[in-house]
Amino acid sequence: LLTVRGLQKSFGANRVLTSIDLTVARGQVLALIGPSGSGKTTVLRCLNGLEVADGGRIEIVGADAAATAIDFDAATAAGKPVPRKALGALRDQSAMVFQHYNLFPHKTVLENVMEGPVIVQRRPRAEVEAEALQLLTRVGLIDKKDSYPFELSGGQQQRVGIVRALALRPALLLFDEPTSALDPELVGDVLRLIKELAAEGWTMVIVTHELEFAREVASEVAFVDGGTIVEHGDPRQMLRNPQHERTRQFLHRLL
Ligand code: ATP
Repeated sequence: LLTVRGLQKSFGANRVLTSIDLTVARGQVLALIGPSGSGKTTVLRCLNGLEVADGGRIEIVGADAAATAIDFDAATAAGKPVPRKALGALRDQSAMVFQHYNLFPHKTVLENVMEGPVIVQRRPRAEVEAEALQLLTRVGLIDKKDSYPFELSGGQQQRVGIVRALALRPALLLFDEPTSALDPELVGDVLRLIKELAAEGWTMVIVTHELEFAREVASEVAFVDGGTIVEHGDPRQMLRNPQHERTRQFLHRLL
């Protein structure tokens, strides 16, 4: 479903991604782990079109089997910016769940969930509302539909963040450290929900520091360091027996 080849991104002189290669098959879950500042968030933002990569290629094959691909090398070689339309098409394929939830503070829970499908995707309001209410019921937040984000706990806000992403019906779900801003007692509910989504067959890329969670939910783990993927593989195998010294040091510090 997702293929990334040679992805590069610099911020000024800071070369954050030197060359990232990833493949995620439909229904698979990829966990990205790695030190702070290694570029994990930047990978997700490039996949979602929130940042424009400087080189490499991203391809996402949506539910209708149509591929959305951007060749950033070609754009850079031509000295032209990547067309907005291409970035928009890429953005439409995925939905992001942010570390700090990023809900609209002046909109209610229901309005937060409906905004993207109604305004951006221009789907019929009644259909979107019915689906939003169903999703909120599912995550136990239907009685909060008219509340504002500040009235919710962090765990509740993040569940709204996840529902908001699901309401977009994306081919790919992207999670950026979805539990790292939460109080420890609120982490469990959010991780359980993500695990359920994985079991339902959603395709996901998850940046996480929760190694135990990665071990349970991920089909594959990739260790990012120095702007590249140093090592990737089966979570049970890789987390227990990493092949590279840098991975070993990183895991050793966390455990
Ligand atoms: P963490 O685990 O701490 O979230 P990370 O692996 O997700 O780290 P990124 O957030 O991708 O790392 O950041 C990688 C590097 O890119 C950092 O050095 C950061 O300062 C830099 N960076 C990220 N976004 C920008 C930006 N918009 N402008 C300038 N520099 C940026």
